[in-house]
Amino acid sequence: MSLPKLYIPGPVDIAPETYAAMAEPIIGHRGGDFEALYASIQPALKQIAGTERNVFLSTSSAWGVMEAAVRNLVQTKVLNLCCGAFSDKWYGVAKSCGKQAEKIQVEWGEAIDPEVVRAKLAEGGFDTVTLVHNETSTGVMNPLREIAEVVKSFDGVLLVVDTVSSFSAAPTPMDELGIDVLLAGVQKALALPPGLSIFGVSEAALERAKTTENRGYYFDFLEFAKADKGNNTPSTPAIALLYALRQKVNAIAEEGLENRYARHSKLNKMLGDWAAKHGFKNFAPEGHESQSLICIDNQDGRLDVPAFSKALRAKHNLLINGGYGKIKGTTFRISNMGNETVETMQHLIDCLDDVIKDFI
Ligand SMILES: *Cc1c(COP(=O)(O)O)cnc(C)c1O
Repeated sequence: MSLPKLYIPGPVDIAPETYAAMAEPIIGHRGGDFEALYASIQPALKQIAGTERNVFLSTSSAWGVMEAAVRNLVQTKVLNLCCGAFSDKWYGVAKSCGKQAEKIQVEWGEAIDPEVVRAKLAEGGFDTVTLVHNETSTGVMNPLREIAEVVKSFDGVLLVVDTVSSFSAAPTPMDELGIDVLLAGVQKALALPPGLSIFGVSEAALERAKTTENRGYYFDFLEFAKADKGNNTPSTPAIALLYALRQKVNAIAEEGLENRYARHSKLNKMLGDWAAKHGFKNFAPEGHESQSLICIDNQDGRLDVPAFSKALRAKHNLLINGGYGKIKGTTFRISNMGNETVETMQHLIDCLDDVIKDFI
């Protein structure tokens, strides 16, 4: 049997046009052909990120840039906003980089409260805040605009935002919100193969980096800024993935950002309706539901999640996720990221219906 279509929250299903784009011949990265490729990606990518500045391209998964943000920006102490697997881990990563770190920790399934952030920052001593916009492990979308407003009201505190599973699926206007580092891996909301990350860095963040010690080389923001001036990257980039990124950002420009956000909301609502129809609740609180995936609450153990996912794969060749880390099985997750349409989601829902009748 062929490999299953991916409805896990990353990596997700790749469009045939994306695979085709990746088959273009590889070029040398020190020269005009590459500079033209790099420059051609920027206009649409900057528009998605909501920034006037060029967006840097890192040959790494998102964690490379998440760690880099800590290494480049934190001089006194970082505040990590923790509400699930990815945001929690950022705190551990900051400590492992030798940085002073404190966290605000909420239960998995809850969102970060901006007023709690305000109270913590008012204690003083922080120079950086990390936020995961869309906590993929719990399906919670944090109130980005409100949290950004709070962080911006404190002088000298930089805001780093992970938009790995929301970039291009929900608005993340970097400049408007005053975000200092906005980053995303490409295998989730952008529906590209893994191995590349994109990140925007504000002027204030670059200024900070200049006086931060031990930034290293591979992820040094100043190296990225210097290379960017010549439409290039510090080290050899994943050129095939850049072809894929060019194809994708152009496709997004053609679709239109507002249309794309609306499509994701609509498809996500189809998943929410499916869950409700079978008596399941969204694991995320009302008003903080992710728009690019659903994390479904199975804490009463009504569904044998591993057996259900297995049956869905065996019968329909579709793969969903049986829950992340400590909420494996007590939740399960289904993605609507990337290229999904009403038709493909309806097919998924028909298949979910077909299989679930044997389980509940
Ligand atoms: C997947 C994910 C990451 C980590 O991405 P890697 O590609 O494994 O580095 C970070 N943050 C969020 C929100 C994610 O969903």
